[in-house]
Amino acid sequence: MADVVLVLNAGSSSIKFSAFDGGHADLPLILRGQVEGLYTSPKSIAKNDAGTEIESKTWSDAGFGHEEAIAYLVALLRSQRGDHRLVAVGHRIVHGGMHFSRATLIDSRVMAALQKLTPLAPLHQPHNLKAVDIVTKIRPDLPQVACFDTAFHRTQAEVAQAFALPASITDQGVRRYGFHGLSYEYIASVLPDFDRKAAEGRTVVAHLGNGSSMCAMVNGRSAASTMGFTAVDGLPMGTRCGNLDPGVILYLLNELKMDAKAIENLVYKQSGLLGVSGLSSDMRSLLGSTDARAAFAIDLFAYRIGRELGSLAAASGGIDAFVFTAGIGENSPDIRQRACEHARWLGITLDADANRSGGPRISSPSSSVSVWAIPTNEELMIARHTRNLLAAA
Ligand code: ADP
Repeated sequence: MADVVLVLNAGSSSIKFSAFDGGHADLPLILRGQVEGLYTSPKSIAKNDAGTEIESKTWSDAGFGHEEAIAYLVALLRSQRGDHRLVAVGHRIVHGGMHFSRATLIDSRVMAALQKLTPLAPLHQPHNLKAVDIVTKIRPDLPQVACFDTAFHRTQAEVAQAFALPASITDQGVRRYGFHGLSYEYIASVLPDFDRKAAEGRTVVAHLGNGSSMCAMVNGRSAASTMGFTAVDGLPMGTRCGNLDPGVILYLLNELKMDAKAIENLVYKQSGLLGVSGLSSDMRSLLGSTDARAAFAIDLFAYRIGRELGSLAAASGGIDAFVFTAGIGENSPDIRQRACEHARWLGITLDADANRSGGPRISSPSSSVSVWAIPTNEELMIARHTRNLLAAA
């Protein structure tokens, strides 16, 4: 009988899920997928460990929401692996604030603390926590673990976490938290298999997906990151603008008379690759386009990666390795090459063939920094934390 660890990543209209076999040390994947279109046009897709579709469904009931989706997942597991025993659920929780610096077994006290952090991530935290509540309702006995996007960055020095704001504001939690921590933690965990010297030294990781950020790690611990108070900071992303002079927000408010909701929409949903190109938030579409605006959006993306690389290398006192990961980082030789062109001053040179074939090592032997393309696995990182906490409980 398989002991299943279920991993949930619940958003406002979707739940991504993965199930792992917790009985094996390396936690093999059993199935993964997502339910999306909650409350509008719900549909699901589930794939097995080989990526082959095993079930897809649509529901006509627009009342089908998080509760129904989680009940469906439990039934799906039962139908696919009737002999399994669900032993724990690991949740991706966007915000752990200053307090949660590691994955944590959830109880009512932890839930109360996490609910208090909702104002720091109003678009994500309530949905993450809703999934915890629903599982508690269905299976109150089941251990649940909160795995945070912010926790990995709590090792950063105070200066790396601070804004130059009055202490009265900083003390209310207005500081740099950093995100994508589960992805960076996963990369830190596998980096010794690729480059032991870099893993013990200074590595910058570029997590380039729909959401993008970069992190400087020293000896596998976060030293600095491009995302700050929220996940809209740093690099331009699919639809998020990244770094923005706060004076722009004041100008939008005072001169263009935009209200807070309109500005939120602008910086989170209408900017980045989509806003600059006016075409698409999807890097594959932009790379396939002949439109000059697509080319400019790509140039801006690569340029910003180069700028942040310089800043992060300075923050960690130099750089031994540069790692690309996530959808764009893992799959686009073109973006990797363009980003590295901005890093020639660091002595970075790529091996064109290795870059085209996906590496994992993509730098040339003479490069003074080793460069890698390494797939991330945030879900597996959550499953590991969940299993480890279960074993320790
Ligand atoms: P999320 O942040 O939603 O997890 P992903 O990590 O899946 O996103 O990354 C999605 C991005 O990766 C999209 O912009 C997509 O176009 C891009 N991408 C995926 N495959 C490729 C590819 N072969 N070449 C360029 N971009 C790619």
